[in-house]
Amino acid sequence: MNTFSLARAADVAGAADELARNPAARIIAGGTNLVDLMKEKVSRPDRLVDINRLPLKRVEALPGGGLRIGALVTNADVAYHPEIEARYPLLSRAILAGASPQLRNMATTGGNLLQRTRCYYFYDTATPCNKREPGTGCPAMTGYNRIHAILGASEHCIATHPSDMCVAMAALEAVIQVEGTGGPRSIPFAEFHRLPGDTPEVDTTLKPDEVITSVDLPALGFAKNYAYVKVRDRSSYAFALVSVAAALELDGGRIAQARLALGGVAHKPWRVPEAEGVLRGEVPTEDLFRRAAEVLLQGAVGRGHNDFKLKLAPRAIVRALSQAAAMGATS
Ligand SMILES: Cc1cc2nc3c(=O)[nH]c(=O)nc-3n(C[C@H](O)[C@H](O)[C@H](O)COP(=O)(O)OP(=O)(O)OC[C@H]3O[C@@H](n4cnc5c(N)ncnc54)[C@H](O)[C@@H]3O)c2cc1C
Ligand code: SF4
Repeated sequence: MNTFSLARAADVAGAADELARNPAARIIAGGTNLVDLMKEKVSRPDRLVDINRLPLKRVEALPGGGLRIGALVTNADVAYHPEIEARYPLLSRAILAGASPQLRNMATTGGNLLQRTRCYYFYDTATPCNKREPGTGCPAMTGYNRIHAILGASEHCIATHPSDMCVAMAALEAVIQVEGTGGPRSIPFAEFHRLPGDTPEVDTTLKPDEVITSVDLPALGFAKNYAYVKVRDRSSYAFALVSVAAALELDGGRIAQARLALGGVAHKPWRVPEAEGVLRGEVPTEDLFRRAAEVLLQGAVGRGHNDFKLKLAPRAIVRALSQAAAMGATS
């Protein structure tokens, strides 16, 4: 680990100022990802800005019926919050499918959004990697790419986003609140994470001086019909190979609203509104779910070791939608 100085921010504006003054400074929240990256010398900030004293640890009601989750609320506190368990159980399930109890006690909402890819080459500083050092190449393209993307990748990077929480938030259409030296702004979830394109080193649309202050959940929580299916190598403490967040609103035996997001397949949680359109207004059947999966996975390509995801993903989508619809049938 390289040497660094530590600043303790007293307010959000102070944290944003620190970031604006020093492009090599990094915010530290729970530290469960950043400290690992620093130990591996993948990240070498010369200044850490500790935001743990900022008043961003509350879950609050929003005027329109939604909920605001402070950026420093831990993953455990989000997952077990009574309002979230009751009104947004999809989010609760997704978070509890990730990491371990110890990690969830430390990991924060803001940090989870910004955790970096788990691509092995990205972590191994002895190998080239366009995300770590732009222009050096992408060994995953022809190397061992079992955990890599089948959708939205570019010739420069085929990494996936590893978060479970983000897949549920994408399906729920959460909105991320941020504040920088230029003031506050809101970023719809679909616009927050980026596809790699020509600049795989940039993971999100957050500006360098911006601090995440909260994540807002809209009033509609899909609490009756939802499923989070996570397929992984071990039954716990493993990142998703493929994950699916499915949320349905049923009305008179038909699907009034549908949301579908995939994890483990792209550089960001993968959502295709047309796939949700296939479901809307229809009676839920396995055949319908298969058609939605086909649309959601249009353009998917394997790179060798990850070809299995091309078969795994549609099955996981059908399973998640079937589970979500069946909940409606029995409740
Ligand atoms: C062994 C292991 C297994 C794991 N398994 C899973 C899993 O299965 N599923 C899953 O989803 N996750 C998993 N995780 C990842 C874990 O969820 C993340 O490490 C965690 O969510 C990061 O949160 P943090 O608060 O510790 O972030 P930090 O490490 O503190 O920060 C991460 C990044 O976010 C930035 N940052 C943090 N807060 C803010 C803010 N408010 N504004 C701006 N920037 C900010 C930091 O500068 C840093 O770049 C695992 C982690 C480990 C170590
Ligand atoms: S997939 Fe992306 S993160 Fe992995 S080696 Fe290639 S450029 Fe680096």
